[in-house]
Amino acid sequence: MIELKSPREDFSKLLPAALRDDFPILQQVVHDEHPLVFLDNAASTQRPRQVIEVLRRVYERDYANVHRGIHTLSERSTEQYEDAREKAREFIGAEKALEVIFTSGSTAGINLVARSWGDANVHAGDEIIVTTMEHHSNLVPWQQLAERSGAVLKHIPITDDGQLVLESLDSLLTERTKLVAVASVSNVLGTINPVADIARRAHAVGAVVLVDAAQSVPHYPTNVRELGADFLAFSGHKMLAPTGIGVLYGREQLLDAMPPFLGGGSMINRVWLDRFTPAELPAKFEAGTPPIAPAIALGAAIDYLNRIGLVNISRHEHELCRYAYARLREIEGLRILGPGPDERAGLLSFTLPEPHAHDIAQLLDERGIAVRAGHHCTWPLHDRLGISASTRASFYLYNTPAEVDLLAEVLAEIRERFRPKGRKRAAGPGKRP
Ligand code: PLP
Repeated sequence: MIELKSPREDFSKLLPAALRDDFPILQQVVHDEHPLVFLDNAASTQRPRQVIEVLRRVYERDYANVHRGIHTLSERSTEQYEDAREKAREFIGAEKALEVIFTSGSTAGINLVARSWGDANVHAGDEIIVTTMEHHSNLVPWQQLAERSGAVLKHIPITDDGQLVLESLDSLLTERTKLVAVASVSNVLGTINPVADIARRAHAVGAVVLVDAAQSVPHYPTNVRELGADFLAFSGHKMLAPTGIGVLYGREQLLDAMPPFLGGGSMINRVWLDRFTPAELPAKFEAGTPPIAPAIALGAAIDYLNRIGLVNISRHEHELCRYAYARLREIEGLRILGPGPDERAGLLSFTLPEPHAHDIAQLLDERGIAVRAGHHCTWPLHDRLGISASTRASFYLYNTPAEVDLLAEVLAEIRERFRPKGRKRAAGPGKRP
């Protein structure tokens, strides 16, 4: 068994080693003897004590429905819920808190835009532009909108190393383009897309820009105004908060003009038997009882991330990813998907000639290493890359170089074990096909 040397000892100089102690879930061994190495952060992250404590406090002391009761607990919950909205506003540089809509996550936010803004504004013959690297959450809602409206869906292609072919954008953009929907960071390639540039060009033809920021808001400082985002969606569970909470940012002018999406309590101003008038923003888009405690805990997660500093977090992840890139490149036949180490966010997807991605993930799990395998909700991207599946290691603030070492060592063992019999190991780093 390869020992995981103290993950705290070689912790990045940018972050305090003690922050690992904030995450109770990381302090365990799996399969009886292996310290947990959690490298599945692009799927969902873990929560620090500080966030768990806030959830506990809310449920033990403050919880009641928001915006309804005139009693103490409802007032406390409402105040904390709206505080969390303010924290989210500041976190993404939005101008007004009413531009921050609480949703259940990125998928819900994107679908809200597709249904509400899309149905009202996109018509037969109009055009929607996405990219080949989108997560299904930023692809299927636009396919559905195109089907409902008769609009045309176009794609910005990618190069073999996973960069957008931006030269194609000028010919894709026309006066019929209504929307450009793009991920700020690819959840498979790690590519960091030049969103501000894309937005500038999209705005020049009058198109609206939606940014799927599920993989960037948790890791990088974000400013929706500098990005030029008209809409921007992200998920709390990918940034230390609970599941069931996310944010859709929308420019006030756009949100104001949009019809409500879900109907019910809270989203109305007045209801008669035959009609209703909608509430003001943001309540107009928050029908029903919202995820109260998760939203308050998202505020606590934002506090935590701000305390560590997103610049430090992104640098730490970048260092780890560069190191992982170099270590994994030593493994013969291992193909890393996406751009080089300097142009990517903190995640690495890869394939080996043998075994299959799912088997790799299972073998890693047997050694305590949690990674993701499959198409990662990017089937068209995997088609483009000519593969059916990949294995992904994704980093966050609590990961360490020692964990990268273990990943590389176990992967090298797996490679040796599945090497076709009689073939000698080639010298030097693995060639990328
Ligand atoms: N977009 C991207 C780029 C993602 O990586 C994910 C989740 O992995 C999503 C959207 C969907 O997020 P959620 O499942 O939280 O709605």
